Amino acid sequence: MIPLGSPDIREEDIGKVVEVLRSGMLVQGQKVAELERNVSNYLSVSHVLAASSGTATLHLALLASGIGHGDEVIVPSFSYIATVNVVEIIGARPVFVDIDIKTYCIDIKKIEAAITRSTKAIISVHEFGLMADMEAVMAIAKKHSLVVIEDAACALGASDSGILAGTMGNFGSFSLHPRKNITSGEGGVLVCKDTGHAEMVSMLRNHGGSDVDGRKEFLVAGYNYRLTDIQAALAVSQFSRLEEILVKKQRLAGLYHEHFSHDAVKLPRCPDGKFHTWQSFHVLLDEAVDRDGLILKLRDVGVEANVGAQCLPAQEYYMNKYGLNSLELFPNGLSAWKQGLVLPMHEKLREKDVLYVIKKIKDNI
Ligand SMILES: *Cc1c(COP(=O)(O)O)cnc(C)c1O
Repeated sequence: MIPLGSPDIREEDIGKVVEVLRSGMLVQGQKVAELERNVSNYLSVSHVLAASSGTATLHLALLASGIGHGDEVIVPSFSYIATVNVVEIIGARPVFVDIDIKTYCIDIKKIEAAITRSTKAIISVHEFGLMADMEAVMAIAKKHSLVVIEDAACALGASDSGILAGTMGNFGSFSLHPRKNITSGEGGVLVCKDTGHAEMVSMLRNHGGSDVDGRKEFLVAGYNYRLTDIQAALAVSQFSRLEEILVKKQRLAGLYHEHFSHDAVKLPRCPDGKFHTWQSFHVLLDEAVDRDGLILKLRDVGVEANVGAQCLPAQEYYMNKYGLNSLELFPNGLSAWKQGLVLPMHEKLREKDVLYVIKKIKDNI
């Protein structure tokens, strides 16, 4: 079976994890601090805080912004479900904006029509590792005084005109889940522009505690969103290979582009000036293709392919609560969910695997 993704865990990674286990210092210690330092150097930003997942980091960003009941948060119509769940669980109202079908990122032309007096923030997703048009998002946010959270879960190392994903908004949220380019098992890191936000996130991830004159005081009601040093050691070790992984994926995406051409399949394109991390290689199938049938047929011939992400307002919970007609309001998000397909894309994939995947899709479409 050629898997969709497969984390490349090497002996050196395992060695680093074992060192932590032997040290007896297991939670939010030196390794977590080292991970935060490495990411902050890489992105050239001041405040980076690790947490237990890329969902926790999104949640912390919203909490630190003081967003809650009665507030509205703009989210793209198509993403991983966590992007909208965090808005819902803080009691705010998600306001969906359709995506651009060419990039799968929020359609910046449609954002302003969704802004009301209650709008407090925009969550802009760098879908599958391609940076959204952040310059436009930031301009709209500035005009309307909105907080910007970059959901850069898939986009560590992505850039636009040399500017790295996660460094433009008030917050940049990254995931270290095994389906992302580097992993800690579960984990996330959050970039905070503002020092006050960073202090609040630091408290909220650790029960609301803070050092006051050398004493621990609990200043807010917080969470346990700490990352372990066991996880951080794995991430630190993987992080040293990030560039290597990105180059490899660049080459694999190039192979798909070079060898795959079919009338019923639209390949993802990376616009000029942007650097795509290719966390996922997501194609769009013609309406006439039975996508779910194709997934099953591919499984039979040893190729794992799957749905890329969801049309958020069309998921059961959101349908029941908000009753929005996605076909009318979010046609791009809906077709990306219904006709999208992610293909195998990971470090261990060989050229002949890519050629096999392409052949099997052509044979079974
Ligand atoms: C993976 C992902 C998340 C959630 O990250 P976890 O670490 O799995 O919690 C959030 N948003 C997007 C766009 C993702 O792809």
